Amino acid sequence: MPVFEYVCKSCSRQFEQLVRHGDHPACPDCGGEELEKLFSVFAAAVGGSRSGPAPGPCGTCGDPRGPGACSMN
Ligand SMILES: [Zn+2]
Repeated sequence: MPVFEYVCKSCSRQFEQLVRHGDHPACPDCGGEELEKLFSVFAAAVGGSRSGPAPGPCGTCGDPRGPGACSMN
């Protein structure tokens, strides 16, 4: 399950959040949804290694929603 790290654009709070398909994370402090996604961390330490390219910024889809956005579809 992907964990995304965000920075709130309103209060600059930085936090990590599990985001499932269709979820819209909000700032735990101010509830703001204007968030900047920093990067994603997959729980590979628990679930073992994934085959294929390492998880990280998507270099193929160019999705404006940010790195990894295409994998949420
Ligand atoms: Zn905030």
